[in-house]
Amino acid sequence: MTLFFIISLCISPSEVNIGDVFRVSVVSKENDIKAVFIEDTIRFVKRDTIFVGFGVVPYKTEPGNYWIKLLSQNVVDSTLITVLPTEFPAETLIVADTMVKYTPKTAKRIKNERENTVNVLSEVTPYILFDGEFTPPLSGIMVTSPYGVKRIMNGIERGFHMGVDLKAKKGDEIKACNDGIVVFAQYHYLPGRCVIIDHGLRIYTYYIHLDSILVREGDTLKRGEVIGYVGSSGRVTAPHLHLGLYINSHPANPLSLIE
Ligand SMILES: [Zn+2]
Repeated sequence: MTLFFIISLCISPSEVNIGDVFRVSVVSKENDIKAVFIEDTIRFVKRDTIFVGFGVVPYKTEPGNYWIKLLSQNVVDSTLITVLPTEFPAETLIVADTMVKYTPKTAKRIKNERENTVNVLSEVTPYILFDGEFTPPLSGIMVTSPYGVKRIMNGIERGFHMGVDLKAKKGDEIKACNDGIVVFAQYHYLPGRCVIIDHGLRIYTYYIHLDSILVREGDTLKRGEVIGYVGSSGRVTAPHLHLGLYINSHPANPLSLIE
């Protein structure tokens, strides 16, 4: 370890729940650094003299202490982060039968659409597209279904909730949580009308069930710009906004970055 090159390595917060985002800040004389956390590579951007990167605790992570290893040309340094035990209760929902029992044609459509979305969220943009903090997409934030709950729909287990459901009325404005580029603005069977914004460094925000979309793929957005209106398209029980956050392809708890 050559301390001369790394002046400080800081994780914030140092204790996290499953699904939470953490920020890694490094003051270094290096030109280029990266870090490894479990199986993920954390990418950094240099702001003045500080490298900033973001990581997330994947959903299946066991509680415990984990190393964040910093790698660069001249040094190897590391620090610990604590993953806390996190309880995720079960949630029972009743939706239209066509949203849980699919015809072969619909099942194929859903599979193709999922693969398409996974590909969009896996793209690596090696630079950062935002400058300030992430802000809420609605003027008031009231969570009606939290991140991580186990979902039972019409009596069938459907995995875990990969974002947060926010209370809203049909027609409420939805604002971009941060600067970025629209990489997806389409209608898919389960999410309905959906917008995905690339913020760089493999960070994406994901807005679904929209009534209408005001942006197009390729648009460059500023934080707070209206991207569409709240609706009830796709698999829903009532109008609301489902907000997702993906970092390194993992669904993260968006409120851990926004609040
Ligand atoms: Zn949701």
